[in-house]
Parts: sequence; structure tokens; C-alpha cells
Amino acid sequence: MKINKHYMDIEETYLFSEVAERVRKFMAENHGAALIKMGIGDVTRPLCPAAVEALIKASEEMGTAEGFHGYGPEQGYEFLRDEISDYYERNCGVKLFSDEIFISDGAKSDLGNILDIFDVDNVVAVTDPVYPVYVDTNVMAGRKIVKLSATSDNAFLPMPFPGLEADIIYLCSPNNPTGAAYDRQRLQIWVDYANEHGSVILFDAAYESFISDPDVPRSIYEIEGSRSCAIEFCSFSKTAGFTGVRCRYTIVPAGLVRDGVQLRKMWLRRQTTKFNGVSYPVQRAAAACLKDAGHKQIMENIAYYKENARIMAETFEELKWPFTGGKNSPYLWVRCPGGMKSWAFFDDLLSRANVICTPGAGFGECGEGYVRFTSFNTHDNTIEAMKRIREIFS
Ligand code: PLP
Repeated sequence: MKINKHYMDIEETYLFSEVAERVRKFMAENHGAALIKMGIGDVTRPLCPAAVEALIKASEEMGTAEGFHGYGPEQGYEFLRDEISDYYERNCGVKLFSDEIFISDGAKSDLGNILDIFDVDNVVAVTDPVYPVYVDTNVMAGRKIVKLSATSDNAFLPMPFPGLEADIIYLCSPNNPTGAAYDRQRLQIWVDYANEHGSVILFDAAYESFISDPDVPRSIYEIEGSRSCAIEFCSFSKTAGFTGVRCRYTIVPAGLVRDGVQLRKMWLRRQTTKFNGVSYPVQRAAAACLKDAGHKQIMENIAYYKENARIMAETFEELKWPFTGGKNSPYLWVRCPGGMKSWAFFDDLLSRANVICTPGAGFGECGEGYVRFTSFNTHDNTIEAMKRIREIFS
């Protein structure tokens, strides 16, 4: 018996355990310090009333003979797929067919599982810094990975360059961790590249609902030619606070064909074989978040986080700390002052301001010298954290 040796090639990312360890040590030496976590990658606002109501109603239905639901369709209930297709039309003028939409329990799973339909010999391009799931899932399979540097020189938005040979391209926009977002022109260049080279773009739109800039597309399908080269992943996690509820969707357009095969059909085959669907109450709750009342409620939560991001951006501007993100994203990617390295600045901020951020070096080599702040804390804590930072660094 042989194990998959590629698992030995996965680099241990000590990022969050190292953050936790440094915080634990600091607290042991500084009892009672009032810490503020500005590195949180999870939402904190409660579920909106429309989602809660739908969860209760659907659970009650499940307790009746007429309303009981057993295994659902692997691709997701039609009521939710129709709601998503309406949402795309309203939100960004994109028309999707219901059979191009696949409901699942999360991005991590879909972003990893989609690789089942691609050969191991494909070359993968990811940005650096990067959401680690894109890298680790491909290392597990033994694929070659090319890194595209995201630096201040390219506004943290890497572009194709002469000689780039990539079969699978991960684009996350708005980006985690940098908060940078591709505008239409830049995204068009990627779509043209993918169509010319026969590549497939895996477009992660998990933070789509944070976009306020009209030049930034909410879906890659706003870009001409994208239906023949892109798969889009989107989630209710950050949009509707579903990180603990679990519901997501992946779009594989009918026009996406490689090696003479429709990838939509391959993905359907994969899902019907290895996945048994998302629970009925959860899909009802997700659908409720896209209807008028529910959507208004979830957007109030997004506005709450965006106001936090605005407060942070104002502080960093005042301090003249270069940063990106925060406008179309819950993340702000901040250059450490005085040329400090990521971990040195993390320690300094922790000890002097009792504020926790996330060291950028943990997201890739190009993250060195940066830290990530998130807008997922409360208004009061965000204001207090920024006050402390201003007092120390002004
Ligand atoms: N994609 C990105 C870029 C993320 O930052 C995250 C979570 O932080 C996910 C996907 C995970 O989403 P889900 O909760 O749907 O698995």
C-alpha cells in the first residue's frame, strides 16, 4: 500500500497557530490586557431575521409528513437555483441557466473538489499572497504551481505576462488577503488570455457583496468571452453570515468546453457521485437572503462592516501608511511602517496597542512587510483599535 506522498510536500502554514501562540504568551505576561482582534477572518454579525425565519419554517416543515424532505437533488433545489439566477440578473445583468448553477456546502470544498475534473499535468497559476486553499489542494494532487506576484507595482493585481503558460488560473476578486479588486479592463485581459491559451479561470467571488465601485465586476460573467473559460465560486458565508450555516454555489457555464467535453457535465457527474446535497432548511434560508426583504437585511450587515473598513482606511490615510483594499472588500492590506517586517510589526502592535492583526508573510513571500486588517469586529472595537494606533504611531 502506498500513501499519497504529495501530502508531504504541503508546507505547514503556522500562521494562525503562531498568531494564537504569540497572543497566549503575551496574555500570560500581561494579565488583563484589553485585546482587540482586527485579524478576524470570520463574520460576527448574527444571521438576518429572514434567514432565521426560513430556517425555523423549513425545520417545522421537515417535522410533518407532507413537508418532510429526504435526499435532495445533488445540484441543489430548483427554488434556490432560480433565486440565484434572478439575483445575477438583478445584481449584474448576467443571465444564467438554472442547470449551470450547483449548490454546495462551501468554497473550501468546491475549490478543492473542482480539481477532480482536471488532469494532474495541468500547470496552475496563483497569486502571491494567496488564499492558501488554492495552493494546498494542488500540492496534494502533485500539480506544478506558478506564482504571480501581487505587489504595489501592479496595484496587487497580477496580470498575464509574455511566456506565461498556465492551464488553471485562480483569481480571487475582491481578494483575500489584499482586498484589491480587478476592474473590467484587467479582467478582460485575463479572459482573453484564457480563451487564447485554452486555460480555465477559477474565479473566487466570495466577497462580491462588498463591491461598491461600478468599475469592478461582481461576476466574471460580466466580461465578454468569460462563459467559455471561467468557473465562478460564490458563497453565502460572507454575504449572508453563513460561515456556520454552510451554503455556497458554483457556476459552470454550458459554453465551457475542454477536450471536446462540457465541464458542466463533468462537474455534475462528479457531484452526483461524491456529494449528496445541502440540507433543505439551509437552502430555504439561503433563498430567503436573496429575496427583497432578506437581501435588504444582509446588505445592512455588509454596510456595517464597510463602515468599519472606512474608519480603518481613514486612520491609515491619516498616518500615511500605504494600504490597499477596504473599499470593495472587508480586508485592508497595510504596508508596515518604517520598513518593518510582518511579524515584527505584529508583535509591536500587540505589545503597544494590544491590537491583533494578521502578518502578511503568512500568505506568501510577497506578503512580507505587510499585515492584514479585517472589518469584521464591532464598530466600538474598531474605533477603539484605531484610536490606540493613532495615539502610538502619530
Ligand atoms: N474563498 C475565499 C477567498 C475566502 O476567503 C474564504 C473564507 O475565508 C472562502 C473562499 C471560504 O468560503 P466558504 O465559507 O464558503 O467555504
